[in-house]
Amino acid sequence: MIKANTHVYGVIGDPIEHSLSPALQNWLFKQFDLNAVYTAFQVHPQNLKEAVQAMSALNLKGLNVTLPHKAAVVEYCDKRSGDVDCLGVANTLSRESSGVSASVTDPQGFIESLGQMRTQFKDAEVCVLGAGGAARSILFALATLETGPVWVYNRTREKAEHLIRESKQAFGLSRARTLSESELNAAIESCRMVINTTSVGMYPQTDASPVRDDAPFSDQHFVYDLIYNPVTTRLLQIAEQKGAHTRNGLDMLIFQGLESLRIWTHADLRLSISQLNECRTLLKEQLYE
Ligand code: NAP
Repeated sequence: MIKANTHVYGVIGDPIEHSLSPALQNWLFKQFDLNAVYTAFQVHPQNLKEAVQAMSALNLKGLNVTLPHKAAVVEYCDKRSGDVDCLGVANTLSRESSGVSASVTDPQGFIESLGQMRTQFKDAEVCVLGAGGAARSILFALATLETGPVWVYNRTREKAEHLIRESKQAFGLSRARTLSESELNAAIESCRMVINTTSVGMYPQTDASPVRDDAPFSDQHFVYDLIYNPVTTRLLQIAEQKGAHTRNGLDMLIFQGLESLRIWTHADLRLSISQLNECRTLLKEQLYE
């Protein structure tokens, strides 16, 4: 029951009405028996600084930050984790005695979503589709996982080149290079994991795919699509038809949210497999409401 001593958390973004974070975090609070409530705040860019300052004024314990504020919010925070310095974005703010502290939980969310499989990708070749904000987090995660060579294909090749240059400088990504469209299928063939970080295939453009139908997937591939709406994208359909192991973006979403909660509570919170399944079901229901 919500009472006067219930801790208040939320997500800020613009637009925000389709965010799954309130459903996710309120479910997590219940699992861990926390006296807390989580809601969504639509914050226009011109009010971002005031929204961060309101954390102290209103005794808000923590905020998630989503588009379009992830980069702009950093300058309004008093402290930044090392990951925020590397990536230049934050998605988690926590109010501490020393002020507002900024963290980023997407890379950890991706790594944790791999479960026991994560060690299998050490030294493995990986193909990343896309070069936007999500791709940056994925490259950071791949550097942490110490994968082998990383091939980045993006519609706008210059952006991929820029991202690789920055990633080498900011967090020591090594052995990465861009691909042209004509090189993509050959690169896919030699890779163990293919990760889609583009928005191609996301609702409502569900017939679109970031790879061609003749992409040479096999049962040796692990194909990860960061998109979670739809749950099975055209890319994942193509990959599954050829026997590849696949994963959509729901688990990354769940684990980045869990990591935010760990930061806010300073507790080593873990989900059982049955809790994870329950959470996936809950979020899918929210998507199709
Ligand atoms: P972003 O910064 O806007 O980057 C978008 C990327 O998609 C760019 O590489 C862009 O290529 C590419 N793209 C967009 N439309 C395209 C098209 N028609 N053809 C080819 N490429 C196209 O977005 P983001 O923040 O990285 O997010 C990307 C996706 O990841 C979204 O679907 C988002 O929902 C998902 N995501 C999921 C999670 C999760 O937890 N599961 C977390 C973060 C993001 P150009 O550079 O050529 O424009």
